[in-house]
Amino acid sequence: MTTRYDIAALKQRLGAIRTEDNPALVKQKSRDFFWYSPVLKRQLDHVTADLVVSPTSEAEVLEVLAACHALGIPVTPRGTGTGNYGQAMPLSGGVLLDLSGFNKVLDIGHGRYVAEPGAVMARIDDETRAHSRQELRLHPSTYQTASIGGFIAGGSGGVGSIKWGGLRDWGNIIRLRVATMEATPRILELQGEDLHKVAHAYGTNGIITQVEMPLAPAYEWVDAILGFPSLRAATEFANELGEQDGLALKNLCVVAAPAPHDYFLRHRKFLPRDSHLVIVMVADFAVESLLAYARRVKGSELLLRSDRLSPEEAKGLPPAYELGWNHTTLRALRVDPAITYLQVLYPFPNQVDLIDRIHARFGDEVVCHLEFVRFDGKVTCFGLPLVRFTTEARLEEIMAIHEEMGAPIFNPHRYTLEEGGMKQTDEAQLAFKRQADPQGLLNPGKMIAWEDPSYDYRAGGTFLFRSLSEAGVG
Ligand SMILES: Cc1cc2nc3c(=O)[nH]c(=O)nc-3n(C[C@H](O)[C@H](O)[C@H](O)COP(=O)(O)OP(=O)(O)OC[C@H]3O[C@@H](n4cnc5c(N)ncnc54)[C@H](O)[C@@H]3O)c2cc1C
Repeated sequence: MTTRYDIAALKQRLGAIRTEDNPALVKQKSRDFFWYSPVLKRQLDHVTADLVVSPTSEAEVLEVLAACHALGIPVTPRGTGTGNYGQAMPLSGGVLLDLSGFNKVLDIGHGRYVAEPGAVMARIDDETRAHSRQELRLHPSTYQTASIGGFIAGGSGGVGSIKWGGLRDWGNIIRLRVATMEATPRILELQGEDLHKVAHAYGTNGIITQVEMPLAPAYEWVDAILGFPSLRAATEFANELGEQDGLALKNLCVVAAPAPHDYFLRHRKFLPRDSHLVIVMVADFAVESLLAYARRVKGSELLLRSDRLSPEEAKGLPPAYELGWNHTTLRALRVDPAITYLQVLYPFPNQVDLIDRIHARFGDEVVCHLEFVRFDGKVTCFGLPLVRFTTEARLEEIMAIHEEMGAPIFNPHRYTLEEGGMKQTDEAQLAFKRQADPQGLLNPGKMIAWEDPSYDYRAGGTFLFRSLSEAGVG
């Protein structure tokens, strides 16, 4: 492969820092889960970096950034590459900055911990549980593999969001250390409003080198799967359950029949094909209250509770959180590769009716999957519906109909921040990027407002992560 960058000079400057230039291995590390989207698969399949560089300390990150800045080589950070929108794919080649080996938990206190960005979330939890029976407030369903830095820079929320909301919410990130991309990179300590500059910014304006995050009390979580005779009954129940403040829940999800039976292969024996599921993670001490509450609903049925399974029954069953969020999509894709998905917000307070109307409109083409969350203090839900993909034009049409019907879409078939719809750029965001990455070398191609000065970032849309001006950052 020919490259426009002086990779030999870079390797020389990097000295003892680990690098990899075997094209097959570089290509492997240049990919994330972009292929969930047939659109991104078409657009990004060929993308690869020129070199993988794997720093294991902040000093090494600074060294890499300074060297790449001097040589004009782009740098795309990567945690463990589980993002779904091509966020970690190096569109301009150059260096893939692999942070997975920069991964220690540095300190655990009462209600908080400090870690390096490459730490995998399940491993952080192992340490905080062992230290003082505390656990992460939030994690994606890729808990077992994804890094905390990648979650902050590329994720949004997940397991725990029914109690704590998402990464966008005040208080769910305490402090970040961020390295700039300059001749002499600086370390910025961000707190409060300034956290919005790098949260969900895909690493376009700084490399996170340390995180300080809040912790919650660790409970023993039980998986409970309840079946309902109709989608409406399941949705209404889940919505009301989410509002039961005394019940300690960690995840609350709805999947319409027959998808669970057809796609949750390891659980299939527990799941009648016509059952619409409510899948719950509940603290062990709250299971009986949950079940009593469910018994009030005619036709509801307990299909599984993980604390009552025999060792034989439990063998090989994934945890309930690996049936939810984007694991629902993954399981469907494994059975039917023509499936893709959407990300939808059903705004409070009419979410249950809206879900009914939307699914009546699309029938079997769009299969209902809901994740209940706290959103601006109210219980509502996101949808990650499964879509039986036919053409890109039809996919666009399905999204447009959702928007027309009052359900904003965060488009998972776009790799730029703005078109993805979760992060709104604005003048303050651009001003920060001018300071932190004046040459535009960090993850190029992901922020349209930077690449195209005529881009109208004020234009429409609902954004999950507020613009900096809206968040109060000048
Ligand atoms: C099956 C499946 C289920 C998922 N479920 C969820 C879910 O429930 N919730 C959710 O939010 N997401 C989910 N995701 C998406 C993804 O797994 C998570 O967001 C995850 O936290 C990303 O972490 P990562 O280490 O893989 O990040 P990567 O994919 O490596 O990176 C994500 C982004 O962050 C940037 N980045 C990485 N490290 C740094 C750093 N140190 N500094 C600056 N920028 C950095 C990258 O350039 C990229 O833009 C899911 C994905 C899959 C495949």
